[in-house]
Amino acid sequence: ARDKAWEQRHQAATTRDGHLVEVGANVADTREAADVVAVGADGIGLLRTEFAFMARRQLPDVAEQQAMYQTALDALVGRPLVARTLDIGGDKPLLYYPRADEDNPALGVRGIRLCRQQPQWLENQLRALLLAAGKRPLRILLPMVTDIAEWRWAKALFDSIQDEIQAPDVQLGMMVEVPAVALNAEVFAAEVDFFSIGTNDLAQYTLAIDRGNGALAALADGLNPAILKLIKMTVTAAHQQGKWVGLCGELGADPVAVPLLLGLGLDELSVSLKQVALVKSHVRQWRLSDCRALAEQALMATDAAAVRALVMQAKNGVA
Ligand code: PEP
Ligand code: MG
Repeated sequence: ARDKAWEQRHQAATTRDGHLVEVGANVADTREAADVVAVGADGIGLLRTEFAFMARRQLPDVAEQQAMYQTALDALVGRPLVARTLDIGGDKPLLYYPRADEDNPALGVRGIRLCRQQPQWLENQLRALLLAAGKRPLRILLPMVTDIAEWRWAKALFDSIQDEIQAPDVQLGMMVEVPAVALNAEVFAAEVDFFSIGTNDLAQYTLAIDRGNGALAALADGLNPAILKLIKMTVTAAHQQGKWVGLCGELGADPVAVPLLLGLGLDELSVSLKQVALVKSHVRQWRLSDCRALAEQALMATDAAAVRALVMQAKNGVA
């Protein structure tokens, strides 16, 4: 099955009843961008830009950043790039920036919260991204947004730089990885260009389980119906406003999750490079109508184990 998936990696991920879903790749280093097309991805669904910042001794300036983003866009030859702005803090410190002394870094000054304290960082990054984009398709993704005021602050900065540079096909959106945002998704959906759901952090914050704590890994199942409900609320709010919504957490690469995520209506799944071909092959095994019915049932299930059992049962029925 793995070989067949690999052979068909350049074909679209279309369900048996003709519904197309995009499958993107998650990338931490723009040098990996060359592999994105080779593994069959429809684009980069998440460029974790903070890793390039963490690997250096000082902040890259606008020109250095522009060159990095250009490398990624060039390698994609017209496919879309979703580039996330700096998600520093929490489990991803910058060695050359003094770390705040926090009892709970995962609940601390991270992502957009840190950028609001260092507005020049975000301004430089947005400028570099817009300069690199030119007329190419780029989605800029803001991490860890919790409050609408954070979004509006970043959006105003983006608009002012866009006025100067004018990159016509650049959108601004945000991660949905804080439960409060999913619960209040209509408010955000009305203002953003798109959403991307980060299930790694969404699960961590919903279940109150540290994503890096191996002792609790068995409890930290992203298929917990509570998380599925938050995903559903997010997709519904986005689609009511005609907005695109992707998902870029590890959950998207779980074969059991794929039919549920299709059924919940996601427009895109972005997974690690080595999972792209397999996820596409899983999409092709299902009918969207069955996925929708399955998702409805999963939302009412008692727990993640029951959700998994439902999907396995349906899979055996399909095969
Ligand atoms: C997530 O939180 O699900 C996500 C995709 O971002 P990261 O894993 O980089 O926090
Ligand atoms: Mg995250």
